[in-house]
Amino acid sequence: MSDSTKSEKKFNASNYAKDLTEHMKVLVAASNCSFRQGWAPIFERFISKVGRYPVLVCLVSEDHEFMDIEVDMGKTTRARYIYKEILIAKHESMRTCAHCGAMKFDTSNKFCKECNANSAKLKITGTWLDRY
Ligand SMILES: [Zn+2]
Repeated sequence: MSDSTKSEKKFNASNYAKDLTEHMKVLVAASNCSFRQGWAPIFERFISKVGRYPVLVCLVSEDHEFMDIEVDMGKTTRARYIYKEILIAKHESMRTCAHCGAMKFDTSNKFCKECNANSAKLKITGTWLDRY
């Protein structure tokens, strides 16, 4: 897959989450899903693990430099298992560039060095400052 095509459709986490969970037990508040394409495989893995349980995913955000997943587990007895998967996604996202999906080592920034260098073009800093 080409990653440099300018005409590529912009990634939309809400639509992505909606499509991914269409025939699953897990419910995702798609309008509360906000993360970049680099983390899509992490979310996909998470859904593949918890998709068969009646869990409500209330929020998926990248505000804190890692993939933050909030769930309502009122209807499942698998809370421990689901929390484990949330933690895996969290740790995985700290090692993964939120923009391009490359491995990275700086956990204080959600982008790899290369994307960070391009951040002026992307109009993002990769830190908490992006919230303002
Ligand atoms: Zn990157």
